[in-house]
Amino acid sequence: MLRDANPFVILPEEAAPEDIQQCERCELSKQRTRVIWGEGNPDAPIVFILDNPGAREDREGNAFLCGTRETLQYGMREAGISVDEVYVTYLLKCRPIRAYNKPEAREACAPHLQMQLLAKRPLVLFGFGNIVAETLLPLNENPTVKELRGSWHSLRGTPIGFTYHPLAVRRRPNLMKIFVDDLTALKDKLKELT
Ligand code: SF4
Repeated sequence: MLRDANPFVILPEEAAPEDIQQCERCELSKQRTRVIWGEGNPDAPIVFILDNPGAREDREGNAFLCGTRETLQYGMREAGISVDEVYVTYLLKCRPIRAYNKPEAREACAPHLQMQLLAKRPLVLFGFGNIVAETLLPLNENPTVKELRGSWHSLRGTPIGFTYHPLAVRRRPNLMKIFVDDLTALKDKLKELT
């Protein structure tokens, strides 16, 4: 799948606002090493929303690119989306490492994402995977990416599209073409909005 030896980059992380760095609104506060607010260009026109942060450091503490971020960048590159055009964030701002109460954590963390999006005011949003779709569009009654992809929806007035989670694409390589097609539609949407 990968064409070049090392074509991917570790995007700069944006620190969480000071008052959220110690957040204890849910049980993930006991599992995390730190609150992960997001990464990439903080003023980007596109905000990507994933379910939760993945591993960011290896055992020695060196930053590394997890499979999710690698697949994401592969798809972006195929679609002609530059890393400068994107900011990546999460429904949950802490990385889970053990079982936890998912509905409670998602509800507890939702105000952080709302606040973040209000502050950033991106032109367009893009969600990855069914968990993000269900959480962001609860009125659509358990929407799936399969149903939502290929159309534009609205999240409090901002256009939002959806595609499969990068990890699902890694597990099922036949999804890669769809993934790239969806990201290409996002690139077209951005051109339309700018
Ligand atoms: S996941 Fe969100 S709500 Fe839970 S402790 Fe982390 S920042 Fe707070």
